[in-house]
Amino acid sequence: MTLAGGVLLPEAPKYDLVVIGSGPGGYVAAIRAGQLGLKTAIVEKDDKWGGTCLHVGCIPTKDLLLNADVYDYFKNAKEFGIVCKEFSLDWAAILARKTKVVTKLAKGVEFLLKKNKVDMIRGLGKLSGPGKISVTDPKGTTLELTAKNIVLATGSEARMLPGLQPDGKTLLTNKEILSLPAIPKSMVVIGAGAVGVEFASIFSRFGTKVTVLEMLPRAVPLEDEEISAELEKALKHQGIAIQTQAKVEKVTKNAGGIAVEYAVGDAKPQTVEAETCLVAVGRAPNTANIGLEKTRVKLERGFVVTNGFMQTDEPGVYAIGDIVANSPLLAHVASMEGIVAVTHAAGKHAEPINHRQIPNCTYTEPEIGSVGLTERQAREAGYKVKIGKFPYAAVSKATILGVREGFVKVVSDERYGEILGVHIIGPRATETIAEAVMAMRLEGTVDDIAHTIHAHPTLAEAMGEAAHAAVDWPIHI
Ligand SMILES: Cc1cc2nc3c(=O)[nH]c(=O)nc-3n(C[C@H](O)[C@H](O)[C@H](O)COP(=O)(O)OP(=O)(O)OC[C@H]3O[C@@H](n4cnc5c(N)ncnc54)[C@H](O)[C@@H]3O)c2cc1C
Repeated sequence: MTLAGGVLLPEAPKYDLVVIGSGPGGYVAAIRAGQLGLKTAIVEKDDKWGGTCLHVGCIPTKDLLLNADVYDYFKNAKEFGIVCKEFSLDWAAILARKTKVVTKLAKGVEFLLKKNKVDMIRGLGKLSGPGKISVTDPKGTTLELTAKNIVLATGSEARMLPGLQPDGKTLLTNKEILSLPAIPKSMVVIGAGAVGVEFASIFSRFGTKVTVLEMLPRAVPLEDEEISAELEKALKHQGIAIQTQAKVEKVTKNAGGIAVEYAVGDAKPQTVEAETCLVAVGRAPNTANIGLEKTRVKLERGFVVTNGFMQTDEPGVYAIGDIVANSPLLAHVASMEGIVAVTHAAGKHAEPINHRQIPNCTYTEPEIGSVGLTERQAREAGYKVKIGKFPYAAVSKATILGVREGFVKVVSDERYGEILGVHIIGPRATETIAEAVMAMRLEGTVDDIAHTIHAHPTLAEAMGEAAHAAVDWPIHI
């Protein structure tokens, strides 16, 4: 067995810590372990380092979203006094740029792992006994590693509807859609969670006729209800058809592509036809073939149960990222869980993640950024809720940008002004939410945000105004 760099490994090499999986959970865990002076190895089954996030998730989608933004600017050039007579999309060039961005970042991951003296081992990793990991490389050669601590970071795969398999042409998951031969004329997106609405937003703006089907009563169902309503309104305004409470009953391939039959309540089933269909109905954890059967690791619907330090019930075995039960499937959560696990394994002071302080970001047009309790959750938890809300239509920077939709909504506790949650939909919401996360981490109140001086003209002013609205009165409305 050789390392990724071609170095031959000794028989049964001994490590302080071995990480299985090189996504944003695994590679960050391995880097931190190296920084802490632990003899560390990382095992990755694919020929690329960086996992779902880097290769078929966060990064390529955000790169395509930027293409869509630039294209939108061209479409609206006249509004900015720019005469642009001819412009069109070059799909091959779009994909080439995406590949360039991903490749550059993947090289960065490799560089950082090497810099921190992490042994990079290519192969399928599996627990093979207490403190043991077997790694089978693509040629079928197996090597046993031993480790004082093991971090499972095997991530997740797209869930498919029963009986369906992606074919790369018409029936797609987040993987195949990123290398389509051409921009499809039409697409049905099944699922209006973050992944579904992001792809809907990208392809609709590229000119694809998009229909989104969501089984639950609203799009982005984990967000505050007002955010879902505003997003649905914006997407519909952009020409995306959204049908909520739609139960998909049958998906059939035909000469033109695909036909999706769905029913809304007791009404007669309807069919929508399109060239392509993206299935975005959630993620399944990769926990089936990693040797958990003979361990004490507990599973909950396939996800690994851990404590706050990311320890499983098997001594010396930690789990992080998308495979963890009751933890949001987000790259930044995976990374922080990696830091917590490794810091704990090294015997240092580790701080468990506060689940109320995790930013949720959806990179649609408009973007969504949120943290903490929704208004409904706060009321159900018994708080005396005070809402402060401010629309971007009244923010000068948003007007300069030509944006009229969206708002910042602060959910606070009336008694002490505690910030319970912040929900933003609008331009750069995924950046602006950082201020709210920091305020909550520092146990700041709505008064603290209201008295924070926000630069003018910036989009951040919407946060200050929403906080003023929660305290007493906003100024610019
Ligand atoms: C389309 C899409 C867009 C997304 N956008 C965002 C976003 O903008 N922001 C955000 O925060 N999150 C986003 N996510 C979610 C994010 O990608 C995941 O939460 C994140 O990648 C999870 O990291 P992880 O380290 O747990 O697992 P993964 O990134 O899934 O990595 C797991 C790695 O383990 C490897 N592996 C699996 N089994 C084995 C084994 N037995 N042996 C060796 N290696 C193994 C896999 O090959 C993979 O490389 C997006 C997801 C998708 C699908």
